[in-house]
Amino acid sequence: MTTVLMNAGPWLPVPPDGYGGIENVIAALVPELRRLGIRVLLATVARSALPADERLTPFPDGQFHALQRPYNQVSGVAHAHQQAVVRALRDRDDIDLVHDHVEVVGLSVLSAAVLAAAVPPALHTLHWDLRKHADFYSALDAGPRVRVNGVSASQLHRAPEALRQHSLGHVHLATPLAAGADRRPPVQKAGHGVVMGRITPGKGQHLAARVAHECGFDLILAGPVGPYRQPAELTAAGDAAAANPDVRYWEDEVRPLVDGVRVRWIGTVSGQERNTLVASARVSLFPLQWEEPGGTAVVETLALGTPAVGLARGCLPELVEHGRTGWLAQSPADLAAFVQAAGRIDPRECREQAARRFTPAVMAARYAGLYEHVISGTGGGTEAGPFDSGSAHGAPGPVTSVSAVPAAPEES
Ligand code: UDP
Repeated sequence: MTTVLMNAGPWLPVPPDGYGGIENVIAALVPELRRLGIRVLLATVARSALPADERLTPFPDGQFHALQRPYNQVSGVAHAHQQAVVRALRDRDDIDLVHDHVEVVGLSVLSAAVLAAAVPPALHTLHWDLRKHADFYSALDAGPRVRVNGVSASQLHRAPEALRQHSLGHVHLATPLAAGADRRPPVQKAGHGVVMGRITPGKGQHLAARVAHECGFDLILAGPVGPYRQPAELTAAGDAAAANPDVRYWEDEVRPLVDGVRVRWIGTVSGQERNTLVASARVSLFPLQWEEPGGTAVVETLALGTPAVGLARGCLPELVEHGRTGWLAQSPADLAAFVQAAGRIDPRECREQAARRFTPAVMAARYAGLYEHVISGTGGGTEAGPFDSGSAHGAPGPVTSVSAVPAAPEES
């Protein structure tokens, strides 16, 4: 039986309560891996509720709040967690592989340990915009026993060559909401649109708010602003919060458009409240201002039968089929027409595609295949590895290019 140390990192519990893309994905992956007969030792924080065969918990609770501190006061957190992971890998002889999700520190520390032949081989999942750590990735020399995978083809297309040499391809993100999504009864749609995600420049909430005012529909913004999960927390933080770039984005570009009537910010939502908010929305907006690498909120909205409308960049063209599960605009100026055309997308098609492409079982089968490659030392060295997820049509295919996206529809 294969034993995997799944390293979720020290930042948030698994599953997270509310915001937490990586932690949500790990929460979806672990039960399916165990169903496939893989033993999972989960490295996380003690408050995590996700069942696993064993747990390693260097910190009692999520350290996300510490990420606001300067580098020299926060870098020790990730390293303390990673040190405990390496110790377990070194001291035990029953672990076949470590599947790591810790940004930069995970890959760098494991590369050194694996190269020294002190620990088992590693698969590191890249959840990030790869330009963010270009110096590190372009100099990566981790040897053949460290492999990486991306969460979309478009993300890996931007990977530096040194990182590509370690790549086994991409595995799209999944959500438990996709399992059986095709069999769920339709949810009555209300009139609102929603943006589900961190309030941060890359997610483009200011553009969504502008479209809501322009088109005259209600928009709900859900998610944290930096470490502040609720409006009252942000207010209580006062001037101290202003050092955070997401708080500055909120104050300068989003808040002036949030009138509390047409456009509202409701803070972080979770569980059934989050699902109902998305399922009853007529549209989920993704006016991306960055190359979104994975898009958990995108696969979630499709699973909940709500079309996605956004800008055709990052992973969006891989996850959303233009005209069938949403609309992909080429510029912010086109967004309003596409939002108004959201009613032409059949929610059933969204749920059916999610049930086919984005279930935890589909994701776990892909990862189980990658584990075999890493443990046996085969595969890799390409940007499009042997386990790339299929396109919206089910067959492997290239990323839809922006120029291939049809024009905005006429108003209905
Ligand atoms: N999320 C949530 N409540 C919120 C806002 C976000 O539960 O109020 C969840 C969202 O449903 C998704 C995750 O946080 O599962 C965000 O992940 P995504 O990959 O979309 O964004 P990122 O990792 O870039 O923040």
